[in-house]
Amino acid sequence: MNHEPFDDLAAVYAVGALDGDDLARFEEHLAAGCERCTAVLRESSEALVELARAVPPAIPPARVKETLLRRAAAFPVAAPRRREPRRRAWLPWAGAAAAAAVVAAALASAFVAARYEARLGVMAREMSAVRARLQRDEAALREEVARYQAAVDLLRDPETRVVTLHGTGPSPAATGRILWNPARGGQLFVANLPPAPAGKAYELWTIAEAPRPAGVFQVDAAGRATHPVEAAPAGTTVKVFAVTLEPAGGVPAPTGPIVLASK
Ligand SMILES: [Zn+2]
Repeated sequence: MNHEPFDDLAAVYAVGALDGDDLARFEEHLAAGCERCTAVLRESSEALVELARAVPPAIPPARVKETLLRRAAAFPVAAPRRREPRRRAWLPWAGAAAAAAVVAAALASAFVAARYEARLGVMAREMSAVRARLQRDEAALREEVARYQAAVDLLRDPETRVVTLHGTGPSPAATGRILWNPARGGQLFVANLPPAPAGKAYELWTIAEAPRPAGVFQVDAAGRATHPVEAAPAGTTVKVFAVTLEPAGGVPAPTGPIVLASK
């Protein structure tokens, strides 16, 4: 049986990077008691331990180099060995063994890189998508808490009153409440208002003498919205609140149908 594939698998297994079918295949082979692979794994782990101990300085100790060379020499890359001219053969043989070690290391790392780079790339992209979503969620939550905090502050002020808005025209089921404080402004809460068509938005008006624009807003999928309202200019008394459907950027004077009004 050809043992060559197991030499590569042993090199990858030794650094803990083997998985899937290859891992199952190699462990089965190992369990069958292959002495060659057992020796490779033992020597690899010894060499790795030595290398880890030797981190500073970065030059591998002689024993590690020896072990690696011995391992590489076990690869069937050299011509059949002859016993006789042992001394002379040592130098070119050592060179070939060193080259084989480099090739084996390059093969193992290319194998590992090809297998795991794509997976790591996918994981990195997923992680950054999750992080971006969490940041968006957190920003939205902070905004919502700030709105409710502002509403609670308004409710503590005895000057604040609650104004009810009723659905009219195209959205009779819509309802609205405004917490209104003439000096501080207020908060509009809307329910059951259908989402505005594409390119449109809802615009709030405070009406003293003439309608005064008080900002545009959109409702969520459930038809709800919360919208802060600025205080009216000093000396004016708001008598009516109204919401109309307008172009998304808002307009200086109402043009569309009234969907909510306070009277
Ligand atoms: Zn083996």
